[in-house]
Amino acid sequence: MEKREVLRLAREVYDEDQLAELEHAIAYATEKHMGQKRRSGKPYITHPLAVAYNLIEWDMDVDSVLAGVLHDTVEDTPATLAEIESFFGRDVAFLVDGVTKISQARAGMRDLESYLPQTKDNLSKLLIAVSQDVRVLIIKLSDRLHNLQTLQYMPKEKQHKIARESLEVFAPMADRLGMGRVRIQIEDLAFHYLEPKEYERLQNLLKKRLGKSTRKLGTVRLDVEKELTKQGLEFEVNGRVKSIYSLHRKLKKVDGNMDDIYDLMALRVIVRDNEACYRVLGILHGMYQPMIARIKDYIAIPKPNGYQSIHTTVITPNEQIVEFQIRTQEMHDYAERGLAASFHYHDQKGSKAYAKNQLMSQLPAELQWITQMQEVATRIREGEDISDDQLNIDLFGNRIFVYSPRGDIYNLPEGALPLDFAYLVHSDIGNRAYSFRVNGNIHAFDKPLHNGDVVEVTTRKTGQAKPTWQELVTTTHARSKLRMQLRKAGLLQAITGAAAIIREKAVRKKKTKKSKDN
Ligand code: MN
Repeated sequence: MEKREVLRLAREVYDEDQLAELEHAIAYATEKHMGQKRRSGKPYITHPLAVAYNLIEWDMDVDSVLAGVLHDTVEDTPATLAEIESFFGRDVAFLVDGVTKISQARAGMRDLESYLPQTKDNLSKLLIAVSQDVRVLIIKLSDRLHNLQTLQYMPKEKQHKIARESLEVFAPMADRLGMGRVRIQIEDLAFHYLEPKEYERLQNLLKKRLGKSTRKLGTVRLDVEKELTKQGLEFEVNGRVKSIYSLHRKLKKVDGNMDDIYDLMALRVIVRDNEACYRVLGILHGMYQPMIARIKDYIAIPKPNGYQSIHTTVITPNEQIVEFQIRTQEMHDYAERGLAASFHYHDQKGSKAYAKNQLMSQLPAELQWITQMQEVATRIREGEDISDDQLNIDLFGNRIFVYSPRGDIYNLPEGALPLDFAYLVHSDIGNRAYSFRVNGNIHAFDKPLHNGDVVEVTTRKTGQAKPTWQELVTTTHARSKLRMQLRKAGLLQAITGAAAIIREKAVRKKKTKKSKDN
């Protein structure tokens, strides 16, 4: 990546002042990285430039882009945070610090790996612990993406390790942030290194199948376009091909039978507003026979990561099965860029000073997990012991939505119990919970909630949390609130886990051997 490519793209997005700052950051980083090389033999600066380029493409705010340019300076060069703060402001320094801490702590963690076997969980924990600001995670994703794109220069063993970690930690992270396009890029790159033969087999299989169906699909597409025009709709239709890794995952689910996969290629209809989405659905169902079980309204009930669209699969008169995805432009942007897109919109509103807290409070219900994640981060930093299982459930498990009787939406991990819900609504409601009704029926404390449940909590004024409830909560949030209450009531002793001490060591461990290309 060259400086002028970055600046060319930046000119389309940022104003004069911001561009000047960007040029300054590039000059600063170039000077600091002078003489350093990537494993590919290219000057090191090409890496931070590529990271910044991604961030501009993802529509991130300019501070994130500056931090992307500077992200390896503090760790790998004589640059200091103080200097960065004086040149580029506190916000940029804060972001660079976050990214630096992740790699420093990881270096320490690598030494500990022999007696901390669950590196996946530890890495997730670490990422969260230091990522007070979700933009740090997004910068880290960009960093990882470029490292994957240049992975061929790494020794075999390291390729494997980085690829696995990308699939297990970074791709789910991108998914959680709603960044669908990045998730797919990371998955396909990593999968190619992990299972090159399988990757090639699927690629060929996909090519063969698509060759046949693209022609047939062309006819369907024309018919649909004609009908939508006739109905006076403004729209855009395009095709999307299933990614190799999601094909691999899906094939596992259907015992390897390609014929059971209906969405190798889907037609995407993009329209102006929600209403038009439902009209398109009606028109399609008027033209073709829908497969009832495959109609999904993610507009009314978004996926836990915020994804919205209507999906439907239809059978054409000549027995062709076609999936349609219907969405507005905003939904499309979100599906591709996820949370990153919201920083751009925020930026556009003209507030130059980035108000982190304000943005966080504006997060939609389906992204409440970020706030929860930050709570977990704070508690990890304060030395509380959070088990790996616990964190894993919260962050990487599937999520469900449940509703209060008033219709407020709450986002919980799959398998959550009624008390988890109660504590999420308010710790006081959790502490005084007496009984639960789910969809109108009495519901036991130990029975999991399901997506779409309406949960009603009956409380008692004199209610008191019980130590036995520790078995009846699954989220870190509820567990922590419950413990706090139990401690307050003298029902629980303060905990000092050995794990907490180990973690301290891991984080405090001074910079050890650094690996290049970070
Ligand atoms: Mn890097």
